[in-house]
Amino acid sequence: MRDLNLGLTCPICWLLMSDPVDLDCGHNFCDACITNWTKMVGEMICPACQKVSLLKTPNSGIASMVEQYEDLSSSSDDE
Ligand SMILES: [Zn+2]
Ligand SMILES: [Zn+2]
Repeated sequence: MRDLNLGLTCPICWLLMSDPVDLDCGHNFCDACITNWTKMVGEMICPACQKVSLLKTPNSGIASMVEQYEDLSSSSDDE
């Protein structure tokens, strides 16, 4: 188990984030995960810290890190 993907996994689905978004509190999730979660609980409450967020912002920095990580893990599949 490697920790290269530290910070790139979604705390909801535990996969690499797809379409990562920031909540007001600074936590990151897949857009799809937080959208489903918000529907389920009725408010955009951060699953990590329970703070209510008013908006979510696409995080292109994480998106490109996820891309790089996927490239890396597919090209160095030695372990
Ligand atoms: Zn997710
Ligand atoms: Zn949070």
